[in-house]
Amino acid sequence: MRRLPVFVVVDVSESMAGNAITAMHDGMLMLLQALKKDPMVIEIGAMSIISFGGKAKVEVPLSSVLDIRIPSLDLSSGTSLGKAFDLLTSEVNSKVTKTTREIRGDYKPIVFLITDGQPTDDWRAGYAKFRKCYPSVSIHAVGCGDDVDFSILKEITPNTYVMRDMTAESFGKLFQCVTASVRSVTASMMNGDGVKDDLAELSDGEVRKPTEDECRPIGESRQVMIPAMCANTKRYYLLRYRLQENGSYLCSVAHPLERKLDGDCGNAGQVAASRMGAAKPCPHCGNDSVVFCPKCGTLSCVDSKSEIMTCPNCGLSGKIVQSNDFSVNRSRG
Ligand SMILES: [Zn+2]
Ligand SMILES: [Zn+2]
Repeated sequence: MRRLPVFVVVDVSESMAGNAITAMHDGMLMLLQALKKDPMVIEIGAMSIISFGGKAKVEVPLSSVLDIRIPSLDLSSGTSLGKAFDLLTSEVNSKVTKTTREIRGDYKPIVFLITDGQPTDDWRAGYAKFRKCYPSVSIHAVGCGDDVDFSILKEITPNTYVMRDMTAESFGKLFQCVTASVRSVTASMMNGDGVKDDLAELSDGEVRKPTEDECRPIGESRQVMIPAMCANTKRYYLLRYRLQENGSYLCSVAHPLERKLDGDCGNAGQVAASRMGAAKPCPHCGNDSVVFCPKCGTLSCVDSKSEIMTCPNCGLSGKIVQSNDFSVNRSRG
């Protein structure tokens, strides 16, 4: 049986911390439930899920929709879009049956790419490799939130969409459009119906095409994510800073993390600390400031009235001094 392979490639970088990653996960559960109810999709549909953060990972290898379980997704530091394309290329190479003289292979795959940030690796190299192997595979790219570089997504595919909110409701609606798109392509493969796969046309407005204005390149990172450690509980959290109109960075939120992020520190390290505003309180213990350990480079929470610190990572203890040369770069862990 010829299969219609659907690859869902999702961003699990630290900027997805908080509700977004849960909402995306729940959206994928809904997608799978809906696809399992369509007899034609059951017959030919196959799906794979690839995640990318600091590295890319096959979450679900290409399988029939009936055999898939949606795994929980772990956040990882970085937005390695290039690695995602490398992995996508090798998964399509190894899992999709090619048509030869002897066998009729699978249908042409469809790719859905969902991202909320700006790539932190050499995405062009990975993308070029994919396109060299698969010039005509169609990619639908959805940029979520306010920090997407649409000029990049536009280079990848004309089928680029915006979804501003990253709530459970928005992700639910997005995956409804993805479901409708997959069902339409499936029906057209099976009985020659016309394809209606444009996510914006399938949406009630939640998912739309980006405006020309939104497609201008973003020069500087609009947001910087800095990992920190709670001095009292030794648990991890993530400070999200957002670029302001005046060029400074304002800390907008502190996300608690369940475990230390793996991978590089994403886009941290590109901005001088002097431009960083005060941190949000530690989500674990409420300490209202942060201090940088000169020995191991860990950023940890501290009470702003405290004069001494003990680094929760390496144990270094000492008097806190005000220093202007504290650079975010050195907080790379
Ligand atoms: Zn704390
Ligand atoms: Zn330390």
